[in-house]
Amino acid sequence: MDGSLKADMKRQMIFLGASFAVGLLLTYFFGFYIGLALNMAIFVGAMFYIRWRRNKALKSLGFSDATIGRGAMNEGLKLKYICISCGFEVKGTRCGKCGSNMKKPLF
Ligand SMILES: [Zn+2]
Repeated sequence: MDGSLKADMKRQMIFLGASFAVGLLLTYFFGFYIGLALNMAIFVGAMFYIRWRRNKALKSLGFSDATIGRGAMNEGLKLKYICISCGFEVKGTRCGKCGSNMKKPLF
């Protein structure tokens, strides 16, 4: 990991910290439940933003999509999908068993 990527991660931590602080403020002004919901929304948004930024950074360093995908899987962030009509695990855009393209993520 080179210096510029390290600096980038530091910025991301500050970004996460800031979004957490904003969440606390929202909790203070809007009450616990609404504040918590908004906090979660902001936090998830920040996580997606960071993943997108990191993927972009890794691509610029010459990593392929496959390498990044494997990295995400190691973190347990990769989503699994199951078919809504038959419950079969869906790999790709549609179900390999019944051909339905209705799927839902499995957490
Ligand atoms: Zn199916």
